[in-house]
Amino acid sequence: MLDVHKDDDLVPIDCPICLKMMRDAGDVSQYHSTQCCVECWIGFLEPLRLLKRDAGYLPNSTELNAYRDKIDNMNNLEKQKC
Ligand SMILES: [Zn+2]
Repeated sequence: MLDVHKDDDLVPIDCPICLKMMRDAGDVSQYHSTQCCVECWIGFLEPLRLLKRDAGYLPNSTELNAYRDKIDNMNNLEKQKC
C-alpha cells in the first residue's frame, strides 16, 4: 500500500517556540528545517545557537519563557503606540 502522508511533512498550526500561528509558506518551510517559525529562528534560536556554539542546541523552559515574555512585551508596546 502506498502511503503518501509522511509524518515528517506535518507542520503544527502553532510554532512550538513562540506558540503563535504559522503565518505563511515561509514559516512552514522554516519549520521543516528548524522546527520553529522564521521569527523565532532569526530572533531567538539562531543567535542562541551561535552563543552556545552548538548547532543543535534546544532552548530550556527558562529561555523559552523569557523569549515569549519578550515578544508579548514588544506586542504591547506596539499597541500603545497606536
Ligand atoms: Zn515561532
